[in-house]
Amino acid sequence: MMTVRRKPYSTDHNVLNVMESKKRPLSAYQIADALTRITHTQVYRALDRLILAGSVRKITSCNHFVTASAAHEIAMVCKRCGYCELRQNDAAFSALGTLCAAQGFTVREAFIEISAICSNCVEADGKLCSTTPNKTETISHD
Ligand SMILES: [Zn+2]
Repeated sequence: MMTVRRKPYSTDHNVLNVMESKKRPLSAYQIADALTRITHTQVYRALDRLILAGSVRKITSCNHFVTASAAHEIAMVCKRCGYCELRQNDAAFSALGTLCAAQGFTVREAFIEISAICSNCVEADGKLCSTTPNKTETISHD
């Protein structure tokens, strides 16, 4: 029986296509789920190759991946639920470039990850607080 092996280039190409079509940070599992007949292990190997080639960037705090076209973007990652959103902000990167230049550095590439709490989690916390009766500690010194 002959085994058909997928060429690494083909897997890399398919992984990149999924990432570009979704236009948001994805986990390796989300990428694998979008592809047929490609295992999570193959996706991780493809991501490793694509990161080495400079085509993909890993957002370490949420273990998601974005295409390298996301350079000069800011990844805001919710510490609670892991939701991640990318935004461009030229003013922020310009300010960082000025800071680096003042220290004698020339920025080649920049990618910023910000650990935060998303609005859904803040809202959920608010609901939790409003429905939870205030705890009043009664300490007895008898
Ligand atoms: Zn959240």
